[in-house]
Amino acid sequence: MRIAIVGGGFAGLATSYHLLEKDRSLQIKLFEKNRIGAGASGAAAGLLHGYVGNLEQPHWKEYEGIQFAKKLLKLAAQAIGKDTYIANGVVRCIMHQKEIQTFKKICQNDPSVFWWEEKYTASRIGIAKPSIFISEGFSVYSDIYLQGLWLLCQRNGAELVSKDFGPEDYAYFDIVIFCCGAELPKLYPNLKLVLKRGEVLLCEKQLKYGIIGNGYFSLSADPNLCYIGSTSRENLEEISLEEATNLILSKTNVWFRTNTKILGYKSGIRVHRSSGILYPMIGQLDHKIWCFTALGSRGLMYHGYLGAMLARAVLHQKPELIPNELGIY
Ligand SMILES: Cc1cc2nc3c(=O)[nH]c(=O)nc-3n(C[C@H](O)[C@H](O)[C@H](O)COP(=O)(O)OP(=O)(O)OC[C@H]3O[C@@H](n4cnc5c(N)ncnc54)[C@H](O)[C@@H]3O)c2cc1C
Repeated sequence: MRIAIVGGGFAGLATSYHLLEKDRSLQIKLFEKNRIGAGASGAAAGLLHGYVGNLEQPHWKEYEGIQFAKKLLKLAAQAIGKDTYIANGVVRCIMHQKEIQTFKKICQNDPSVFWWEEKYTASRIGIAKPSIFISEGFSVYSDIYLQGLWLLCQRNGAELVSKDFGPEDYAYFDIVIFCCGAELPKLYPNLKLVLKRGEVLLCEKQLKYGIIGNGYFSLSADPNLCYIGSTSRENLEEISLEEATNLILSKTNVWFRTNTKILGYKSGIRVHRSSGILYPMIGQLDHKIWCFTALGSRGLMYHGYLGAMLARAVLHQKPELIPNELGIY
């Protein structure tokens, strides 16, 4: 079977990997018009943990998502012979008094999450706020991880086609899977997606843990550098380093003043459902076309789990294997 995967980000690579895991005889061609990781995936700051966003409700399938992601991170690290992440944990600081009860409940229910009093947090990270320590939180080195994951796909038989997938390419393939991030709404405007551009800053700073509060900090592959994030804007125009710095530091400096040297920034476009609902989107668009999108800010959490789910549905030609909440609506 000939399968085209369009897009070399987290979604496209995880789907390619899982398809080939299930059937090595598939002919997988990965179309990438720029380079692997050119989209939002290459811009990701790399925080991976189960306590993203509003913590009142547990996230859909976060446990499964993180287990699949961890497996791929480890395999990619073996393939490329470099670390793809650091598992030092993530500190999530309390920003509002009303969060205290929720955070304490999390610590009671999850033995891998610990309550840190204000003084203890200050002694560990220099921020005088109570916090939770998510001991199983990761900082993923997105660029290295993407390269490692692509190496795995290649070893299993995937081929890179370095061009824009266009109408002339459809006929050759039995199946086409669009994992093309911000380009998908141009091809399928009816999918009800919204795009938001975001930036993260690269700075000189040694960090022991990932940190989340008003904005966030994540570790990079270089122990002397970290990322500070992030912006999120409906205006998709690129902005200058100075503008990105002002936007991001105006957030983080409110709770954690950093005198760090800013070295540069990464920018990418996140895809969300226009309804504001946080479920990613996987679906069949016609008898041979499928899509995988709307990963929002949770690309790392969901790409592995949903890549495996999509691979199963595609190979069995059974869209009903995909839960309704992930569908196209
Ligand atoms: C600033 C920022 C920080 C983030 N931080 C985090 C984080 O810490 N943790 C986390 O989990 N998530 C984070 N995210 C979100 C995460 O990056 C996204 O959810 C994820 O990258 C989406 O992956 P994707 O594969 O769907 O799309 P993309 O990564 O955008 O990949 C799409 C690819 O398709 C290619 N393409 C498009 N059209 C075509 C075509 N016609 N032919 C060939 N190729 C094509 C593009 O070049 C691109 O490489 C962040 C996002 C941003 C912007």
